[in-house]
Amino acid sequence: MRISIIGTGYVGTVTGACFASLGNDVICVDVDARRVESMNAGVPPIYEEGLEELLKAHAGKNLRATLDYDDAIAHSDISFICVPTPTDEGGKIDLRFVREASRSIGQRLKNKSSYHVVVVKSTVVPQTTQSVATPILEEASGKKAGVDFGVGMNPEFLREGKAVHDFMHPDRIVIGGDDPKAQAVIKSLYKGYKCPILEVDTKTAEMIKYVSNAFLATKISFSNEVGNICKRLGIDTYKVMEGVGLDARISPFFLNSGLGFGGSCFPKDVKALIGKAADVDYEPQLLKTVLLVNDHQPQMLLKLLKIHVPDLKDKRIAVLGLAFKNDTDDIRESRAIPVIGSLLAEGAQVVAYDPMASRHMKKVYPNIEYVKTADEALMDADACIVATEWAEFKKLDSFGNMRRPVVIDGRKMIDPKGKNIIYEGICW
Ligand code: NAD
Repeated sequence: MRISIIGTGYVGTVTGACFASLGNDVICVDVDARRVESMNAGVPPIYEEGLEELLKAHAGKNLRATLDYDDAIAHSDISFICVPTPTDEGGKIDLRFVREASRSIGQRLKNKSSYHVVVVKSTVVPQTTQSVATPILEEASGKKAGVDFGVGMNPEFLREGKAVHDFMHPDRIVIGGDDPKAQAVIKSLYKGYKCPILEVDTKTAEMIKYVSNAFLATKISFSNEVGNICKRLGIDTYKVMEGVGLDARISPFFLNSGLGFGGSCFPKDVKALIGKAADVDYEPQLLKTVLLVNDHQPQMLLKLLKIHVPDLKDKRIAVLGLAFKNDTDDIRESRAIPVIGSLLAEGAQVVAYDPMASRHMKKVYPNIEYVKTADEALMDADACIVATEWAEFKKLDSFGNMRRPVVIDGRKMIDPKGKNIIYEGICW
């Protein structure tokens, strides 16, 4: 099928590259010329395992990128909206990019005679596809949804770092629609997928995405709360959660306690769901607490550090890991951000290391020191904080070069045995 992808970020690039690898003709549209150039050169604008290989294989063949909506809509039969849906200052979803993309597509549908389906893949709060995207598409095109063109909602569940794998091997595919013809077109794209395909109305599809993320975020905050209690009781929370996770009703995933969740999805999606609940006069206590526990974890880590280094002024503190998790260069809502902020507020000198994400963190903290290896970061440091679960940190053995070998581990990456360090785990 001929597909256009609107927005070439994490979701759009992966969706475009994977649909191309399945034999479709894909045109990606973005408003950012650098991203378009990068895609056309076969260079991923973001890091994702396996993405470069896919772009190299398909760019210039059945995958290309453009700034031109006319070109993209004229030469495709289905468009996936993959633009950002950030949180506004009041904590509610900001739909400005979805509105813009819908208007841009609608204007091009005006003069298009063949049937076209528009699919919202961005994470949007329930009722957005029906009450925001569809009316804009109708107004801009002068046509009727469900008659002249189709609309659907197909949430994305990929994990950053494993996005290509997850797109090709999802646990499930959710196709939302209030129009069976459009839903059938979307479903045909996933022919050959072995996972369950759930067909629901659009607002149910939108809600499934939020509830999935809110539940996973809840599991993490729950595990952090348990970890905070276990640490005080001298109980190994990881053993506890191993025992808990063996219960098939619970599952062993997302039970690791630590510094908390970050990324472009969990914090913003939990906030947006709280905001949507407020619109319908409901205050979700549990979800609010999930965010509170998450915000509390970086403060806990600082408290532990100050037990060992009470005065942080002018102390050299190594922060290992800046990405919000391993195997990605994404720092959005990374827990390293509040950690570094608090260190700087206390007058510490921060030396930061991350194998991929330093260039992004430089935009947030341009004035801290960035080094190229974890060993360099540890050199002469008064303490070290592990903020991201990069596998390489498990092999670190240069703590002897620190001025004071204080290690505060937010991700259970360092095994203190035989290392001659002063070790403190955030929840263990
Ligand atoms: P992103 O910020 O990485 O990329 C979005 C892209 O859209 C950018 O390249 C931007 O330039 C482009 N863009 C903005 N306005 C545009 C417009 N009017 N026309 C064309 N392009 C435009 O975003 P992302 O992380 O890929 O997230 C996209 C959506 O998918 C969000 O709703 C997000 O919540 C959801 N989502 C993200 C993930 C994830 O892991 N990142 C997973 C599932 C769902």
